[in-house]
Amino acid sequence: MTSHLLIVESPSKAKTLKKYLGKDYEILASYGHVRDLVPKTGAVDTDNDFEMKYEVIARNSKHVDAIGKAVKDVDVVLLATDPDREGEAIAWHLSEILKARKLLKGKKLKRVVFYEITEGAVKEAVANPRDISMELVNAQQARRALDYLVGFNLSPLLWKKIRRGLSAGRVQSPALRLIVEREIEIEAFKSREYWSVHFEGEKDSVGFLARLTHFKGEKLDQFSIGDQARNDEVTAFLAKNGKGSAKVKEIEKKRKLRSPSAPFTTSTMQQEAVRKLGFSTDRAMKVAQSLYEGVSLGKAVTGLITYMRTDSVTLSKDALAEMRAFITRTYGKDYLPAHPVQYKSSAKNAQEAHEAIRPTSIARTPESVAPYLTDEQRKLYDMIWKRALASQMTPAQLDTVAVDFTVGGADNIFRATGQTMVFPGFFALYHEDQDDAVEEEDKRLPAFDKGESVAINRLYGEQHFTQPPPRFSEASLVKTLEHHGIGRPSTYASIISTLQAREYVVLDKKRFTPTDVGRVVNKFLTDHFARWVDYEFTAKLEDELDDISNGKDEWVPVLARFWKDFSAQIVEKEGVSRKEVTQEQIDETCPKCGKHQLAIRLGKRGRFIGCGGFPECDYTRNVDGAENEAPLRIELGADPRTKMNIVLLSGPYGPYLQLGEPEGDKKPKRVSLPKNLLPDQVTPEIAQKLVALPRELGMHPETGKKVVSAIGRFGPYVSSDGQFKSIPKDENVFDISLERAVALLAEPKSSGARGALKVLGKHPDDGQSVGLYDGKYGPYVKHGKINATLPDKDAIDTITLEEALVLIAEKSKKGKSGKFTKGAKPKKAAKPATPKLKLKKAA
Ligand SMILES: [Zn+2]
Repeated sequence: MTSHLLIVESPSKAKTLKKYLGKDYEILASYGHVRDLVPKTGAVDTDNDFEMKYEVIARNSKHVDAIGKAVKDVDVVLLATDPDREGEAIAWHLSEILKARKLLKGKKLKRVVFYEITEGAVKEAVANPRDISMELVNAQQARRALDYLVGFNLSPLLWKKIRRGLSAGRVQSPALRLIVEREIEIEAFKSREYWSVHFEGEKDSVGFLARLTHFKGEKLDQFSIGDQARNDEVTAFLAKNGKGSAKVKEIEKKRKLRSPSAPFTTSTMQQEAVRKLGFSTDRAMKVAQSLYEGVSLGKAVTGLITYMRTDSVTLSKDALAEMRAFITRTYGKDYLPAHPVQYKSSAKNAQEAHEAIRPTSIARTPESVAPYLTDEQRKLYDMIWKRALASQMTPAQLDTVAVDFTVGGADNIFRATGQTMVFPGFFALYHEDQDDAVEEEDKRLPAFDKGESVAINRLYGEQHFTQPPPRFSEASLVKTLEHHGIGRPSTYASIISTLQAREYVVLDKKRFTPTDVGRVVNKFLTDHFARWVDYEFTAKLEDELDDISNGKDEWVPVLARFWKDFSAQIVEKEGVSRKEVTQEQIDETCPKCGKHQLAIRLGKRGRFIGCGGFPECDYTRNVDGAENEAPLRIELGADPRTKMNIVLLSGPYGPYLQLGEPEGDKKPKRVSLPKNLLPDQVTPEIAQKLVALPRELGMHPETGKKVVSAIGRFGPYVSSDGQFKSIPKDENVFDISLERAVALLAEPKSSGARGALKVLGKHPDDGQSVGLYDGKYGPYVKHGKINATLPDKDAIDTITLEEALVLIAEKSKKGKSGKFTKGAKPKKAAKPATPKLKLKKAA
């Protein structure tokens, strides 16, 4: 008796197989991939026939070692990894490792594939092993090499030209392009108004609705009723016929057949799991994998579905026979077509997986296995089971009826349509969901006779607006990728999760929106690597990989062809300027300098619109609210005192009033709005009062200097001779008296934070206020008796408590002028005063 070692990639698959194969078989799992390219430049040697340098994946090395140890004790090694290129490659990598470790001498090494994991299928597969297919392996190696070459050469370019840490993938990039282009389409979309005209009627207590199709002899299209002249005609028609009747002109009846869809491929299963079950594509694949690898059904263990990575829509003869018997038994012979239904794959080049996704036995109904499944497994299995079975049932039969009515003359035609199900066929079991369309329902019309008249209950026009195309959902993205021939069953889910992981797209309400970085990366790729994000080019490359797997093409020439052009392009694009990459000119002149064009630029926090003349001109604004957040500008008329115009504008510190316009170097007078006054509350009267500030109150009786009241960034204040005092909240900057101002200025400013421009917060050591003041020598911060001058006057607008604490700490240490550097942490000052508390308690 020979002993066998059977190797699979997952422990759960190993567990199922242990139940089927006797003691003669030891079964070990590799825990996924075992080798990958060394993560360095030169891992794919482009000068030496694309020789690839692999290394054992560190996290799985202990599993590889365990396999190596077990090999010593057996005569036959069976590599039973998944039945696709990836599985074939894992098997080959394992064999290469074992060979290199000289563990295969005198041993047999074979490949076994399971398209389904049931006792019969496994035993049969194990009895019929084959050699590793180098065609499949090389197709997978070529894919890995292509992805490596793109990633390793494009990413450094993205770092240099856009931002560090970015990366671009070969098949993800066209997918990103789809999402970005859709977003641009939505942004550019201009909604168009159109009208439809309807009448409501009723017969035999059944209401119905008819829609105008011909008006005055003209066949209407979507936009026929939209312009004013036509609207006026229609309005007159509605007024005249609203109380009238409609005459039945024509009745058209048709029998329609609706055929079931093909059983699931990876792509269609992912789409329906997203639409019907609300799964992500990634989740759908993980749940499907668990159903494929085996589920414990009480005593028995079995795989419930066939291999889930497939683009084939065919079903095996045995499966067809079982399904047909089941349909007759359960639904009756009316539901069974004369012959098994054969489907054709929409994928151009259906890969090596030989069957669609189907239950391993249709006899395991969703109800019968439900007690053994998780909620997600149950939902997905139910869908797969129904879809497969429905694909072999008869079409649904529908009777459709269209009734044409004339209203107010023979050349105005309305149509009502109805539909009734005559025979449900496969509908008895399964309905496919649509992405962005509404499924038509069973809609019954009353029975009409030609020539009869029906009273019009209501005649009306309905306004519509065209809608922008919808953003991609996971389902519609997979569908579109497949339509373009981009990606393969094994890659759809990973394309989607990679784009999200790189933060190039986000899923918002289950729809994809590109991020700002995603848009810039896409723009760089479409501008400079157009060919490599081209849908057709990517699809063609996938076809070439398919050809390698079919033995129609060699992998090295495919790589060589790709590399020749791609590497040349990388070299050429080294010279592209960063500005060109990260800026997108828009058709608008800078409103600030009036010289340069504006451009969309990528900043740390995303895209913004900025002046192309930066740093000469610093104009910026938000991209998103381009319209809503257009610079605030409210004209408030002429100021009677100065005869200059007053405008309300918004600046970085909030809204302000401006008197007159800038002239050369001369800045016009600007006054901040008081905090509690909203821009739309500002009347010309209030504006005139505000621009008159600072208001001269008179001369200080002691110093003889001017006393004024005004509004600053921190609110209303009075000032004289460099002294400032805030005006208390309940008093008014416009009518404060000289006497009151003098009294305010005379108030002591030592203790507390009175007179402060702003209280920054409490000092962590003693809970006393830390305030910001404006003094003779410029702004300063104050804590207790320590005053620390701000090193930079402009910091008055931005200083935080943290920065103030640093200044105060430094000042108290040095006793003299303190300096602070931005971002420095107040190490000493921030320490909580715990030792003091302890002392108190002890005492
Ligand atoms: Zn400018």
